[in-house]
Amino acid sequence: MAQDIVEEYNDRPTFTYSAKLDNEIRNNAIDKPKGYRVSWHHNPAVEKYHFGQLHPMKVWRLTLTKSLIMGYNMHHGMDLYSPPALTKEDIAAFHKEDYVDFLSVATPKNIVEMYPELAQPTGYSSSVYGVGDDCPIFDGLFEYCSYYSGASVDAARKLISGQSDVALNWTGGLHHAKKGEASGFCYINDIVLAILELLYHHPRVLYIDIDVHHGDGVEQAFWSTDRVFCVSFHKYDREVFFPGTGPLDSTGPMHPENPGRNHTINVPLNDGITDQDYAFLFDTVIGAVTRTYDPSVIVLQCGADSLGHDRLGCFNLNIKGHGHCVQFCTDYCTKYKKPLLVLGGGGYTPRNVARAWAHETSIAIGAADKIDSILPEDMPHREAFRKEGMTLFPNLGGWKTQNLNTRADIERIIRSVSEQLRYIRGAPSVQMNWIPREIDTWREEAEREHQARRMEKEEKMEDRDGAGGLIAQRSRRKELERTGLMAGNIGNMKTSEFMTGPTS
Ligand SMILES: [Zn+2]
Repeated sequence: MAQDIVEEYNDRPTFTYSAKLDNEIRNNAIDKPKGYRVSWHHNPAVEKYHFGQLHPMKVWRLTLTKSLIMGYNMHHGMDLYSPPALTKEDIAAFHKEDYVDFLSVATPKNIVEMYPELAQPTGYSSSVYGVGDDCPIFDGLFEYCSYYSGASVDAARKLISGQSDVALNWTGGLHHAKKGEASGFCYINDIVLAILELLYHHPRVLYIDIDVHHGDGVEQAFWSTDRVFCVSFHKYDREVFFPGTGPLDSTGPMHPENPGRNHTINVPLNDGITDQDYAFLFDTVIGAVTRTYDPSVIVLQCGADSLGHDRLGCFNLNIKGHGHCVQFCTDYCTKYKKPLLVLGGGGYTPRNVARAWAHETSIAIGAADKIDSILPEDMPHREAFRKEGMTLFPNLGGWKTQNLNTRADIERIIRSVSEQLRYIRGAPSVQMNWIPREIDTWREEAEREHQARRMEKEEKMEDRDGAGGLIAQRSRRKELERTGLMAGNIGNMKTSEFMTGPTS
């Protein structure tokens, strides 16, 4: 045997071996990006949970994603954080306390004793806090939720403190969870919790959702505020596609006094949308929203079920087509020095979810060009990618034979969005001219005006079972803090007390 090895070695021209090695070193030499910091928030404890054999949500996709990111050595391009789990009190910053209590005690054993009706199949969900076939009670459910939510909140805090400029949490992005119930495989809405955190320091948050499903939980939570602008791109069919919400004309509350009015954009799509059409819509809509709303931070939910060949999806997006949205937001945020929070979401063909999120990590750290399209030789679980071949960019685009989104559909969406945006910020011109960041005085003035307008509006705010009331409470408290009325009280207050007031 030893002789064989020596002979084989002698057969190989030395320069080929060196070239290969050089190439590998070059490809694997991932540096931190210049001029901004990227952080990756991932608690590995989240990977051990299981929704059940037949359930489409596979936590395994998170392990595959991590394997690819580390196989490509991309962790060298980021600051790494393994954040702590959230406590019940942290979670109650958005969720109802009885729901949080329920999640924290429910187990597969006691759930049927407590609620015998759950012994039967429930369809999507049940009347018991939305748990059922879609959202089963599995072992360690609450810990699982606390870990993925902890990572999102930690990411938001690092952005606020300036320790990070682009923060990634692929375990988060669970956009369907409601204030008091589970929905669509989501139990705790880590996005809402992270945005609430960001709102302590940021006047305007732009939330963008590219999951194939409508981002209903986040939209509902911030329905009645102008401090969060929600944009969701999704397959829409009221009758047959979950969750059945998010039509084009759902743009915020109808009441003319409600500050959330016109601060929601829904982009309803049909089956088979291509990379080209999706990118056109994304660039046009998000370009217009960023120019008009001038967000101070962006939160991007990167649900990967919008890829072609997704087990639950119906679009024709490729890995690079999906990644285009991350590129757009990274370019925008690094150019204008605004923080970016990038989250995971849905995604039910695990190997393609991992491909997308690994590619998107490379975009975030500015290393997309350095990454070899052939999957790293020595990464763990490499065999899991065999079906499409060992490439990062398999062809997922030819999945649905027809693109059912017509030119007319796309034009109708663009027209509607342009029209809607005219109502924001005192009806800017239709062209929505670019506002250069250098005009600092303009910005300060606009900021002051915005704050004054907000204080006035919050007094009138109607809260549609969302976080609007919470934001108003926080803003009022911030104002009290600023004026010194609550000085000395703050350090000892817990989050739950903070939200409900110390005497309740
Ligand atoms: Zn989804």
